[in-house]
Amino acid sequence: MSTHIAVIGAGFCGAALAREFSRQAGADIRITLVGMAESFGAGVAYGAARPEHLLNVRAKDLGIDPDHPGGFADALRLSESGRLDFLPRLAYGDYLRGELEQAIAASTATIERQPHEAIALERERHGFRTFLANGDVFHSDRVVLAVGALAPQSLAGIGPRLSVHPRYIGWPWQGDVLDRIDADADVLIVGAGLTMIDVALSLRTRGHRGRLRAISRRGLPPQAHLRRPGAPLELPPHLLRAFRDADLGAVVRGVRQLAARLDDWRRVIDALRPHLQPLWRALEPQQRASFLRHLRPYWEVARHRVAPAVSDQIEQMRASGQLDIRAARLLRARWVPDGLETVIRERGSETVQTAHYDALIRATGLDTDVDRTSDPLVASMRESGLLRPDPLGLGLEVDAGFQVQDASGHPVEGLYCVGPLLRGALWEITAVPELRVAARQLATQVLAGPSPALGAAAPGCRSLRA
Ligand SMILES: Cc1cc2nc3c(=O)[nH]c(=O)nc-3n(C[C@H](O)[C@H](O)[C@H](O)COP(=O)(O)OP(=O)(O)OC[C@H]3O[C@@H](n4cnc5c(N)ncnc54)[C@H](O)[C@@H]3O)c2cc1C
Repeated sequence: MSTHIAVIGAGFCGAALAREFSRQAGADIRITLVGMAESFGAGVAYGAARPEHLLNVRAKDLGIDPDHPGGFADALRLSESGRLDFLPRLAYGDYLRGELEQAIAASTATIERQPHEAIALERERHGFRTFLANGDVFHSDRVVLAVGALAPQSLAGIGPRLSVHPRYIGWPWQGDVLDRIDADADVLIVGAGLTMIDVALSLRTRGHRGRLRAISRRGLPPQAHLRRPGAPLELPPHLLRAFRDADLGAVVRGVRQLAARLDDWRRVIDALRPHLQPLWRALEPQQRASFLRHLRPYWEVARHRVAPAVSDQIEQMRASGQLDIRAARLLRARWVPDGLETVIRERGSETVQTAHYDALIRATGLDTDVDRTSDPLVASMRESGLLRPDPLGLGLEVDAGFQVQDASGHPVEGLYCVGPLLRGALWEITAVPELRVAARQLATQVLAGPSPALGAAAPGCRSLRA
């Protein structure tokens, strides 16, 4: 009898899983890969990109196979110096689609594509029923959620008329929405991270002349990579000990001291990466919350860096006065007869400022707040108790065997998750180097089937074996 596995989401993780199933599964396995037609095989980051959007990882490190990080650079036959470059994200989307095609063609297991959104999932006596937006419904024995991060929620403080007005862009990845913005428009961008950078570059490429103001809690834009990477660094024993003891204070002190001693702090951040998942898993809930409250903004800009060429363009825009980045909060925005009225409060200020703009763009990045999302699939699973949101808004809870936990905290046998919705379990699980490892581990576990030993995780255990 064959086993039918549904993978919902055909972005990076969906493609990486299909590739792993192609390598690992026999003829008794049938895979259905469900994904949005427009980004099938590439996902949001690489499928909805524009030519000006560059990868933030060097080409040499982006292979889909964990044993062969150079696979992407090899596929493009890059020179030694080309391997160190940050290539367009579109090129990476093409590579992922190519890998998926090859995996499907070479597979002993049957892998079929369903280019439709999954809008609901129900548990059956044996297995699951997936409902697709085109009206189709199908049964599978196991399901992997690989839906990426969630589309952002509507911004707090946005008036009802503005929220449906064409001058408010709540999801800048959607087709050509930025074309709505006049080249002379003054634009307020909420968010100062990677999404803001994408938006600013796209507007610049279109010849935008108006002013752009970006605001975020701390007003910190992402840092830049150096043109040439620094030599890999070994962490000193006292820092390794701090990681082992999950002593967050000692980790932070050790990192600061080490970074101050080196010519390039980026080497320290890169050296921390293999230690982050174990550290996160060992932290108490209040330590995680404290990290999110106090350190997250600084961590994110140092960890998720942009390509030097991207940073150069952003700095030119800042130097010319076209782009202004401030630490401030949007309190309210509404559409009034003479345009778009905003009220913001700068960090540390006792007063608020009212200003008019021609457009407002939400660029707060992708969301992982399962508790608040209106995503049809995830919200319906939450409402039916098929999953349990992470209490800190970092995705959903899973057990030690990659299985999703239901509302009462029990593993749902045969339902798995991979990708950014595992941030609450692993934290460092949003970029290719970690995702390809997770996809391989997950494929092995899904093929092995639900195991009572893995399913019965120790009480309070919310993490994966990564
Ligand atoms: C703008 C941007 C740039 C990035 N750049 C880099 C980079 O340079 N290097 C790096 O390592 N990482 C980068 N990342 C991180 C990125 O998240 C990961 O590299 C990776 O794409 C995540 O893979 P995923 O499969 O979890 O999500 P995705 O690749 O986004 O794939 C999820 C897919 O599932 C689909 N989907 C969602 N819900 C459903 C549903 N209900 N039914 C059917 N399909 C559904 C989505 O449309 C999407 O196609 C970037 C992320 C973003 C947002």
